[in-house]
Amino acid sequence: MTAETASSPIPSRPGPAANDQTREKAGGGACRPDSGGQAGLISLGIDIGGTKIEGVALDRDRRVLATCRLPSRQGSQAVHDDTVTVARRLMSLAEVGDRRDGITLGLGIPGRIDSLRGTVDDAVNLGIGHMDLGPSVSRTLGIPVQVENDVNIAALGAACQSHSSLVGSGERGRGGDDATLPQDMGEMPQTRSLPPEKERVVVFINLGTGLAAGIIRNGSIEHGASGAVGEIGHIPADFHDFPCKCGQTGCLETVASGSAVEAMWPGVPHPLPDMIDKARQGDAHAKESLAVIGHGIAMAVQIVALTVDPSLIILGGGMTKTGQPLLDLVDAELDKSARASHFIASLDLPARIRLAPPDLPIGAIGAALAGRKAGRLQV
Ligand SMILES: [Zn+2]
Repeated sequence: MTAETASSPIPSRPGPAANDQTREKAGGGACRPDSGGQAGLISLGIDIGGTKIEGVALDRDRRVLATCRLPSRQGSQAVHDDTVTVARRLMSLAEVGDRRDGITLGLGIPGRIDSLRGTVDDAVNLGIGHMDLGPSVSRTLGIPVQVENDVNIAALGAACQSHSSLVGSGERGRGGDDATLPQDMGEMPQTRSLPPEKERVVVFINLGTGLAAGIIRNGSIEHGASGAVGEIGHIPADFHDFPCKCGQTGCLETVASGSAVEAMWPGVPHPLPDMIDKARQGDAHAKESLAVIGHGIAMAVQIVALTVDPSLIILGGGMTKTGQPLLDLVDAELDKSARASHFIASLDLPARIRLAPPDLPIGAIGAALAGRKAGRLQV
């Protein structure tokens, strides 16, 4: 399978690029169609974050029909109104007219989510204490709405990407099934074959301000009993015993997250790349800090590997914008564990790790796919 096949949401439909006539702007946002109108099923997905609201419209074959983005505003009413605005613009750009049949909407938002009821609690970055987000947006738009946690939709969006779009180091034969490998990589070592997408277990580790994981099993988000599944950031597993905002000490989040990096390397705009640069130049404090971060992320990888045993572990979130140097750091830590333990070596963890594609709205794409559940459509 390549990025051009219908099951991948990666390629935009062939069509005119956005131009002055089709581009809409509002409050710094931007919306554009990626093709002409579309008959049939339309899946809208909107990722509501602390700084921006990002939406996509997908067709039945998961191709991107339109994208739209607005800056976020605080409070339940503003979140409702902006979500409706983005959804309506996406429908307009996808030229669905007045019809509402076959149109679904998935929403991803931080906080505690009850995906059965469509409610959100404690979305602190958006100023929301409690909100009936799904029901209110569904009433306004007249389409079914599914609400999910933001990490879970990013997990779903990343898990459905074709293998060739996920970034691996290429050093250990990443890409067991359908990866399109560059010609110059020579003979690749054999790795285990991956099952088809629908049968895969994929874990997405979000290395953002905090640390959390989303689990996708057989193409669906795993919720657990209380929605806390994947909250690995609050496993108290690190011996430094740094205090965590959750009240415990030694949480993984205190050594494997953007906030951990900022706490160890304060006062610079891009602390992780800077820390890596300084470590390469021989700075002892940078080396020490980097070792703590690398060990923390590797520990997160080992925890999801040993509890869920996924075929793919995708690293995403703001920290992964660092790219290959981050992957190298994690690989080096995993190598250390593998050299010390035949058991860990047998898990072949570096071969399972990928970086999420940095330039795709995987949260919005995952939200669109999750939204199909609300309309009881094939994901
Ligand atoms: Zn904690």
